[in-house]
Amino acid sequence: MAEYEYETHDYDVVVVGAGGAGLRATLGMAEQGLRTACVTKVFPTRSHTVAAQGGIAASLSNMGPDHWQWHMYDTVKGSDWLGDTDAMEYLAREAPKAVYELEHYGVPFSRTEEGKIYQRPFGGHTTEFGEGPAVQRTCAAADRTGHAILHTLYGQSLKQKAEFYIEYFAIDLLMSDDGACTGVVCWKLDDGTMHVFNAKTVVLATGGYGRAYFSATSAHTCTGDGGGMVARAGLPLQDMEFVQFHPTGIYGAGCLITEGARGEGGYLTNSEGERFMERYAPQYKDLAPRDYVSRSMTMEIREGRGVGKDGDHIHLNLSHLPPEALNLRLPGISESAKIFAGVDVTKEPIPVLPTVHYNMGGIPTNYWGEVLNPTEDEPNRVVPGLMAVGEAGCASVHGANRLGSNSLIDLVVFGRAAAIRAGKVVDKDGAVPATNKAGVEKAFDRFDSIRNAKGGTPTAELRNDMQKTMQADAAVFRTSKTMAEGLEKMKAIAAKLDDLHVTDRSLVWNTDLMETLELTNLMPNAMATIAGAEARHESRGAHAHEDYDKRDDEKWRVHTITRVDGPKVDITYRPIVEAPLTNEDEGGISLKKIAPKERTF
Ligand SMILES: Cc1cc2nc3c(=O)[nH]c(=O)nc-3n(C[C@H](O)[C@H](O)[C@H](O)COP(=O)(O)OP(=O)(O)OC[C@H]3O[C@@H](n4cnc5c(N)ncnc54)[C@H](O)[C@@H]3O)c2cc1C
Repeated sequence: MAEYEYETHDYDVVVVGAGGAGLRATLGMAEQGLRTACVTKVFPTRSHTVAAQGGIAASLSNMGPDHWQWHMYDTVKGSDWLGDTDAMEYLAREAPKAVYELEHYGVPFSRTEEGKIYQRPFGGHTTEFGEGPAVQRTCAAADRTGHAILHTLYGQSLKQKAEFYIEYFAIDLLMSDDGACTGVVCWKLDDGTMHVFNAKTVVLATGGYGRAYFSATSAHTCTGDGGGMVARAGLPLQDMEFVQFHPTGIYGAGCLITEGARGEGGYLTNSEGERFMERYAPQYKDLAPRDYVSRSMTMEIREGRGVGKDGDHIHLNLSHLPPEALNLRLPGISESAKIFAGVDVTKEPIPVLPTVHYNMGGIPTNYWGEVLNPTEDEPNRVVPGLMAVGEAGCASVHGANRLGSNSLIDLVVFGRAAAIRAGKVVDKDGAVPATNKAGVEKAFDRFDSIRNAKGGTPTAELRNDMQKTMQADAAVFRTSKTMAEGLEKMKAIAAKLDDLHVTDRSLVWNTDLMETLELTNLMPNAMATIAGAEARHESRGAHAHEDYDKRDDEKWRVHTITRVDGPKVDITYRPIVEAPLTNEDEGGISLKKIAPKERTF
């Protein structure tokens, strides 16, 4: 048994994560009068949300007619009919409220001439239920929207009585014998002390797991820690096979050029200088959704029309736009293009390539953020005391493909929803659960065995094997053969977690140990992704299967539920939620409008 002294902390709510989702939840929980702690492994304003560029979607109608039902329709179609209808309705309806709230909190949005919030076009956002022209729905603070939102939310959270535990690494959840979450065990990175947080509700807001892949736009801290903790608690992950490749990662560097670049008039060309998106998506061209554009780019490259000496990437052109517009609306990406591609965007095209960007899948929740542990009889069974919001969760509003600018809005809408729900269900006068000593011991045992791991495989080597395998075998195009081979390789790689070698045994600022813990979290996320992909015999959204190239609604309009234990993955399916929150006669959307049909642009 591993001996570690620890300090205990009792709260109504502990939020793990201080990105957009975690901060919005923290702020809301505190506003509800709940004693709230926010635990984060990086300083709040270093969370990946800070890197979000393009903007946040809401049907404000500032730049032309818009309607929440059009936003909902686009989200349904964007999801390739795999999202949960109640959650998608909630998102689209609540979005304007959530954005105005951000404005009032102080987010410095860009402005129109009349002083309203500026909105730009983004892929897949349309009018008239996909019949009309593209809409300007994406609210932006130049191309630094996430930065503006994160700093504002952090400031607002400090104003509330929420307490921050910064540079605390959450190791594992504490679960009671009857399956409720009662807290979380953390390691304080800067002095090596251990901390047990007991809480009536734990909210996981730990972000995505882009770093399961070799080339990703996400920060090195995006290691799916929430998904890892959930898998170890015997709880499932949902729809993990749907991984978004953003069309415009900078070739070689992987860092992002926002879709806002195409929203402002940029376009893609192949080696013949052709604007090829006109062929694939005659109506919305370069502003078709991301899965569509990434696939089209990959087809161009495969058919020999890629640019560069190896013909292995595509050009993004901005030089036809007035330099003043670039300077006003896209200053950040102009700088990134200069630094990472050596390109002056006013003169030359940017070399780009589809790059891993976002995880549609995650911890299954309802639209209040309550985590689900589905059974066959009870597909929407709630796990008491556990919530998940943001990219770590799967509500599911993005289904098989997320629309650009729909993540930032998801963070604030569902961060807020979780707080509203907790305000109702958490008993403020009730006792905080007592420390689950057996659970704490189990977490320390795991931590200690990793800290003292003396196997033959260094963490960096195993991580590299995982990232390369995922990049090769769970990419934009997938075949039965590559996925089956990839899955076998990944099983062998996951089994090697038992053979890790950690060199540094100290407890203070031990990055070797932290990266190893992160690898143990990335692995179950990666396993669920490739196993879910191998099992899904259809093409839908970001999952383009060459051997099953059609969507199959009869059989596959279901969520994939994966339970991962080391190299073992158990897969079941859960029906999607088809019923909207409100009927047509109560002002809701007509079901006919959102019935599945072929997805063209
Ligand atoms: C480059 C880039 C640009 C983007 N641009 C846009 C955009 O314009 N519009 C849009 O809608 N979306 C955009 N996205 C997507 C969107 O930004 C992300 O999905 C979103 O920011 C995720 O927010 P989050 O709060 O869920 O997690 P994050 O912001 O990733 O925060 C995760 C938090 O969890 C904490 N954490 C994680 N693990 C632990 C642990 N073990 N212990 C303690 N704390 C932990 C971290 O410290 C951090 O505070 C972009 C994404 C990227 C990568």
